[in-house]
Amino acid sequence: MNDSTPMHDSRVDLAIIGAGPAGLAAAITASGLGLTVSVLDEGRRPGGQIYRGIEDAPARGEQWMTLLGEDYARGLDLVKRFRASTAQYRPEHSVFDIAPDGGLGILGPDGAHWIEAERVLVATGAMERPVPLPGWTLPGVMGAGAAQTLLKSSALVPGARTVIAGSGPLVYLVARQMQTGGANLVAVLDTTPRANYRRAAPLLARAMLAGNEIRKGLAWRREVKKATPLFRTGVRNVHVEGVDAVEAVSFETGGGRGRVDCELVLLHEGIVPNTQLAMAAEADHDYDELQACWRPRLDAFGRSSAPGILVAGDGGGIAGADLAVEAGHLAALAVAADLERISHAEAVERGAAARAAIERKSALRRFLDTLYRPRDEVLAPSHDDTLVCRCEEVTAGELRQIAAMGCSGPNQAKAFTRCGMGPCQGRMCGLTAAAVLARAGGRSMAEVGHLRIRPPIKPITVGELAALDGVGPPPDAGPLLPTAPDEGTD
Ligand SMILES: Cc1cc2nc3c(=O)[nH]c(=O)nc-3n(C[C@H](O)[C@H](O)[C@H](O)COP(=O)(O)OP(=O)(O)OC[C@H]3O[C@@H](n4cnc5c(N)ncnc54)[C@H](O)[C@@H]3O)c2cc1C
Repeated sequence: MNDSTPMHDSRVDLAIIGAGPAGLAAAITASGLGLTVSVLDEGRRPGGQIYRGIEDAPARGEQWMTLLGEDYARGLDLVKRFRASTAQYRPEHSVFDIAPDGGLGILGPDGAHWIEAERVLVATGAMERPVPLPGWTLPGVMGAGAAQTLLKSSALVPGARTVIAGSGPLVYLVARQMQTGGANLVAVLDTTPRANYRRAAPLLARAMLAGNEIRKGLAWRREVKKATPLFRTGVRNVHVEGVDAVEAVSFETGGGRGRVDCELVLLHEGIVPNTQLAMAAEADHDYDELQACWRPRLDAFGRSSAPGILVAGDGGGIAGADLAVEAGHLAALAVAADLERISHAEAVERGAAARAAIERKSALRRFLDTLYRPRDEVLAPSHDDTLVCRCEEVTAGELRQIAAMGCSGPNQAKAFTRCGMGPCQGRMCGLTAAAVLARAGGRSMAEVGHLRIRPPIKPITVGELAALDGVGPPPDAGPLLPTAPDEGTD
C-alpha cells in the first residue's frame, strides 16, 4: 500500500470513495487484477461505519471485542487484506465534488485538489434516517448510530440517563452494546408499527433460511428487554421534552401516554443510502417505496447511468456489510472488464458467487424492510412546528403552506424557504421535505422528485477553493458553485 505519492500526480484507473466494506473489497479485487487504485475516505482509519476503529480495537482487550460482537471482529481480516493490497489509501480526504465525467474535488490535510480517474466507485455507505419529531433538535438528542460511532471510535459510553427510541436491528444492537459497556439505559421504546409484524409474517420462513440474522436479533432483543427498566413496543407519537436540553421523553402505546425522565435520547429509524455524490454526478435515482428512500439506478455490477461512475454497498440501497463486500467485488470486476483488463465473460464468471450471495439474502432483506418500514409520522412529521431543515430552521408547517401555494417539489421549496440550502446541503432534510410536500399535495415521491445536489457537498472555505490545484473541472462538467435557478433554486 502506498500513501506517500501526492495524489494529483497520476491518473489512476479507479478512484474509490469510501473505505467501508464495499470500498475495501473493491480495492482488493481491482488492485489484484492489476488496476491502479486510490481509496479516499474522510475517516482516519479504514473500516467504514460497521468496522469503525477496528484496527485499534484488539489492543483494547478481549472484553472490548466481545462487547462489539463477532460481526465487528470479522472486519479485521478485510482491513488486513486491504492494507496488504497495492491500493493507495488516502485517509482524511473528503470528496466535496464529483463531475458527471468522474472528476473529483477533494479536500485533504494538504488542501484541495481536483483529480481524475478512468472510473469512480462511489462507496459512501449509509446514514441514519433523520427522525424529525417534536424536540429532536434539543441538546441531548442524537442518533443511536452516532452514539455507537463514539463507542467504537473513542470507547465512550454515556453516563447520563439514556432512552433509546426507534425501530430496526441497530436499536437492539446499540442497546446491547451500551448495556454491556455499562450505560445507564433507562428505557427502550420500540416504535416498530404493530401492523408491520402482520405484513412481515408471511416472509419470515424464507428469511430464516437466508442466514442466522433473525435468531441473532431475537436474542439481542431478549437480553435488552431483560436488562432495561422500561421496555415498550408499539410506541408512537414520541416527543422529546425539555427547555434548554432534554428532560424527558413522552410517548403513546396501546395503554395510553407514558413519560420517562432522561438526559440523553438516542433516536433511530433505520438507515438510508448516502446518495449525495451519486446525485451530484447526475446519476438517475428511483424512489424505493419499501426502504422509503432514494437509490441510484444500477446494473447488476453497480454501473450507474452516469458514464464511468459506479456505486457499491449501502449507498446503492441498504443491504448490510456482507453484501456490501460482494457489491464492491462486483464493481471492481466491472471496472476491470470495462477497461479491458479482463473479458466481460470473465467478469460474469468471477462474479457468479457474489451475485448468488446477493440473491440468497434477498428474502432476508425483504423481511427486514417490511418489518422495519417507518411509520408515516417519521417520514413526514404531522406536527406543524417540527423542524424539518435544521440548518435553515424550516418547519413541516411552512412546507405544507408552500405546498398549498403550489410548490412543485423540494427544489422549488429552496426558493420559497431556503430548505436544503444550509451547510448539510439537504443531507438531513431532503427526504423529509420531499415526503411532506408529496403528502400535502397528494402526490408520489417520484412525482415531487429529490433535491438536486450541488457541490460543494462538504464544507470548504473560499481560500481552499481558490487554492484548488489539479486539472480542474472540465468546462462542460457543470458548475462548482451554485448557478442560476431553472425549475427551482440550485
Ligand atoms: C451510524 C451507522 C452505524 C452502523 N452500525 C452498524 C453495525 O454496528 N453493524 C452492522 O451490521 N451494520 C451497521 N451499520 C450498517 C453498515 O454501516 C453497513 O451495512 C455497511 O457498513 C455498509 O458498508 P459500505 O461500504 O457500503 O459503507 P460504510 O461502511 O458506511 O462506508 C462508507 C465510507 O465512506 C466514507 N465517505 C462517505 N462520504 C464520503 C465523502 N464525501 N468523502 C470521503 N469519504 C466519504 C465514510 O467515511 C465511510 O468510511 C451502520 C450504519 C450506520 C449509518
